[in-house]
Amino acid sequence: MARPDAVVPFRKVLIANRGEIALRIHRACREMGIATVVAHSTADGDAMAVRLADESVCIGPPPPRESYLNIPAILSAAAITGVDAIHPGIGFLAENARFAEMVEEHGFAFIGPEPEHIRIMGDKVAAREAMARLGLPIVPGSDGPVATVEEAAVVAEEIGYPVLVKAAAGGGGKGMKAAYHAAELASAFSLARSEAVSAFGDGSVYLEKYLDAPRHIEVQVLADCHGSVVHFGERDCSLQRRHQKVIEEAPSPALNAGQRDALGTLAADAVRRLGYRGVGTLEFLFQDGAFYFIEMNTRLQVEHPVTEMITGFDLVREQVRVATGEPLGYGQDAIRFNGHAIECRINAEDPRTFIPSPGQIDSYHAPGGLGVRVDSALYDGYRIPPYYDSLIAKVIVHGTSRADCLLRLKRSLEELVIEGVSTTLPLHVALICDDDIASGNYTIRWLENWLDRQE
Ligand code: ADP
Repeated sequence: MARPDAVVPFRKVLIANRGEIALRIHRACREMGIATVVAHSTADGDAMAVRLADESVCIGPPPPRESYLNIPAILSAAAITGVDAIHPGIGFLAENARFAEMVEEHGFAFIGPEPEHIRIMGDKVAAREAMARLGLPIVPGSDGPVATVEEAAVVAEEIGYPVLVKAAAGGGGKGMKAAYHAAELASAFSLARSEAVSAFGDGSVYLEKYLDAPRHIEVQVLADCHGSVVHFGERDCSLQRRHQKVIEEAPSPALNAGQRDALGTLAADAVRRLGYRGVGTLEFLFQDGAFYFIEMNTRLQVEHPVTEMITGFDLVREQVRVATGEPLGYGQDAIRFNGHAIECRINAEDPRTFIPSPGQIDSYHAPGGLGVRVDSALYDGYRIPPYYDSLIAKVIVHGTSRADCLLRLKRSLEELVIEGVSTTLPLHVALICDDDIASGNYTIRWLENWLDRQE
């Protein structure tokens, strides 16, 4: 569906999210001359985005189900404040196709893709099938969901062990269990399935070959609703703990220019043929020179700033612009890659046990200087509520080369002060001094192995 008739810029946008990403979206809107309304829970009344927004509306008590996932409350807030559009941010309702539909049914624009595309990509089995049809290589695996252990065993014999049992509705690294041998398959199958039921309310699982040492490389795309699609190159997000990203960088130290172009073009072509609109990320595993599509995220990503740092584009601005129906107005040639950027995700967690550490910030000081960006909603005296994700700051650094970037990152992390709660800052300081990180020589297994060695 193309956006209706003439392009009318948004005057007012409701941000249905919290934390640093609500602030990030507010900032883009403000620079575009768009007024903002932040919808927040009672736990977030003193949040930075709420303080800076033109308006704010309390949509419910702290538990996400009663506030950030409460669709009627969010739609009421949008109606009361008379916004033109709703930005779902990251997480919460950002990949909920029904929410996107309801937003549009109530006469607001949804700053994101068509519900149909959210729905397809939200089901990883459907996403694999759709992308394979559009010409992307996928990880060898089952043709569709596998209903029984017996069926899984047949597929596993065909593709060869080790295999990964994955939740079709998966996200955040949940519902994923490896079986290295036939003897482990039954338990991997039932564990993945029960985790999928409890995390997503959907126990469908499928099988993929478990690649032993891949890198996670993803491509940022942007599409308008007139058929123009560009890509903004790749991000390497191989530094992960429990299948969740910890440090991301762009460009990937593992790709050469030819591979970069080929992957970007492949991703953009697939997205064009899909008829997609908005920002999106195609995630791939990369091993032995080959790429394998694993999933597409139909929203902004936490790590989008590294792409912004090397391209100079404001991806939220572009996302808002295409949501109005405005054409991109530029082609692939306009996107140039300059230097190197790395992002460290700082969580309010114990750096060893990773147990969340909510509480009051006694002292906060963000690093600055050339090429340094901190996306965070912290301030002195802020109290981190215990109900939500523990990400509290993203330190993003740009340098002319990867080596310069690492030096700048080290001095930036040394300047960062967050007192009052435990954070993963010491972990990042230790990591970026490691020789393998310095040389760019790591895979998705590297960080877990490194953590094991620290014990
Ligand atoms: P989620 O949606 O939960 O993030 P993904 O499918 O994106 O799940 O995978 C998350 C991470 O899990 C990947 O970045 C990678 O580290 C690991 N992973 C996923 N599929 C495979 C696979 N077939 N082989 C090896 N690792 C995998």
